[in-house]
Amino acid sequence: MKHTQLDIAPTISALLGFEIPEKDGNEISEIVEFCAKKSYDQILLIIVDGLGAELYRKLNGALAHIQALAKDGLFFEIHSLPPRITTPNIGTILTGYAPEHHLLYETADTYYTPIKSILELASERGTKSGIVIEQAGAKAMLNRVDLAIGVENLHGIIDYDRRIVDLALKAFSLEGIKLLMIHLRAIDNCSHHYAKAWDDIAFSARTIDKNCERLCYGLQKPTLVLVTSDHPIHVEKWAHLEDNDQDVPLVVGCVSGTSTSKEQ
Ligand SMILES: [Zn+2]
Repeated sequence: MKHTQLDIAPTISALLGFEIPEKDGNEISEIVEFCAKKSYDQILLIIVDGLGAELYRKLNGALAHIQALAKDGLFFEIHSLPPRITTPNIGTILTGYAPEHHLLYETADTYYTPIKSILELASERGTKSGIVIEQAGAKAMLNRVDLAIGVENLHGIIDYDRRIVDLALKAFSLEGIKLLMIHLRAIDNCSHHYAKAWDDIAFSARTIDKNCERLCYGLQKPTLVLVTSDHPIHVEKWAHLEDNDQDVPLVVGCVSGTSTSKEQ
């Protein structure tokens, strides 16, 4: 059976030892089995905005670090659910519920939904959980998780993603967060606003890859890293890059962390 975005939250909950009630997705047993053989202290979920499975393949080289993580770990092409728009699709990834159940169509819906994200459920069960995203999203998650950091796009999307990564590293090292979700936006932002040629998309992908590499080398403790996307590239001008493929990548890897590697 093909895995979908609905399966990510149930998989994380299985790894944390609890079940999401009435979820639409199922745990991905290959990931649970992979993790059973690994030792890690914390989980990082990276959602790369606007990266479909076909674009991921075409960006071979520009995503060298993420693809190396996949090579040493697991790689899936998972089905993305309609409407393939950022907020509802991140809602699907974080809840394990289909959009018609979570009803998270815009950021403000987060205030009213009775559906809880994997971050909130984990936090309630004693796993310190956090999120580093854009300001409105972080504001909506405040008091629902242990740490909600909002980043404003003040100096362009490359700088924005870089600060998200800086704050993610601090969330783990200074705040003792055990489950963190971050959202990196360079590819989607580039495709919407300034991409004139393939090189622009490839450039933005390289910045995402660099940020993932910086994260993996900056983490101090053994970490389970999951990298996925909310939707394939959806700007009409660039949609052809996905060849009508509606899958998104899901990379699962383990990073040893600097303090561990120093001890060895
Ligand atoms: Zn998006």
